Amino acid sequence: MTIRLPSDLVAAALAPPEKLADLARVAERYAVAMTPAIAALIDRGDPNDPIARQFVPDIAELTTTPEERADPIGDNAHSPVEGVVHRYPDRVLLKLVNVCAVYCRFCFRREMVGPGKQALTAQQLDAALGYIAAHPEIWEVILTGGDPLVLSARRLGEVIRRIAAIEHVKIIRLHTRLPVVSPEKITPALVRALKAPGATTYVALHANHPRELTAAVRAACARIVDAGIPMVSQSVLLRGVNDDAQTLEKLMRAFVECRIKPYYLHHADLAPGTSHFRTSIEEGQALMRTLRGRVSGLAQPTYVLDIPGGYGKVPVGPDYVDMCGEAGAMLEDINGLKHDYSPNS
Ligand code: SF4
Repeated sequence: MTIRLPSDLVAAALAPPEKLADLARVAERYAVAMTPAIAALIDRGDPNDPIARQFVPDIAELTTTPEERADPIGDNAHSPVEGVVHRYPDRVLLKLVNVCAVYCRFCFRREMVGPGKQALTAQQLDAALGYIAAHPEIWEVILTGGDPLVLSARRLGEVIRRIAAIEHVKIIRLHTRLPVVSPEKITPALVRALKAPGATTYVALHANHPRELTAAVRAACARIVDAGIPMVSQSVLLRGVNDDAQTLEKLMRAFVECRIKPYYLHHADLAPGTSHFRTSIEEGQALMRTLRGRVSGLAQPTYVLDIPGGYGKVPVGPDYVDMCGEAGAMLEDINGLKHDYSPNS
């Protein structure tokens, strides 16, 4: 059973009894859920366990810093109808549900997700699909939330069929954590529901630590990929979870082994009560430099940051090129050595 109560976290030895009051205070503010698969992964003897850090509430979550904001990536500024975010011309987010199988302590939509938070009603879904149908520039629809894979295969399949039937939509991308946190729920029926004639489906898997990619998780991902659905990865750079080169290297290698192309490494957003997770951009760049020296291009994610206020996602380096006027450029190799590149001189 999924753990949702602080007392159950203590009973399962996932938090010490003296922390119960703190846990309860955090749980009043932010949703808590941990699936059995995640609880089984946690090393109870390690007070700094990187899996526990992602799912066990921490009193630090009640400290909101001045720069943090309820809508850190500015979804609301680009929402023409309920559930749709249209930030870039050729694609939209469609937020079908506001619930997840787990609640990550660093979630960038933590103010919007949680048990009892509204999913789209039938009328709102009609309006959202109507908006997409009326905008021929929309080529890609990204199902996010919450976690769209918590829907039943029947409901998800129906929505995907309706989106794929819109002539100009060619790509449907689902962002999910479910294969990691509840791999047993990636059933053949759910996998079949992900595809529909008329559009190509991609699945973006959110995982942050190599230990999350257990044998059961790898098998769940294989069910998706074997069905002809390409997968990409998304990870968040998190202090105390994956902010070291060795962990990131293992994580990216694990993705590639699972036929999941590393896609994004997100700089942690300015979500309320998450400053204890954030690194500096400089630290992130240094990690990316190390990664480039250690793993092939196949295992390289792009390090990105969502500009607060809704201005979109940008790669944040590191940069290996120093332009030197018309003459050429100075290029930096993986060891930090500079090389003059002047083809026209
Ligand atoms: S699964 Fe995604 S949306 Fe849900 S709590 Fe975690 S980060 Fe937030």
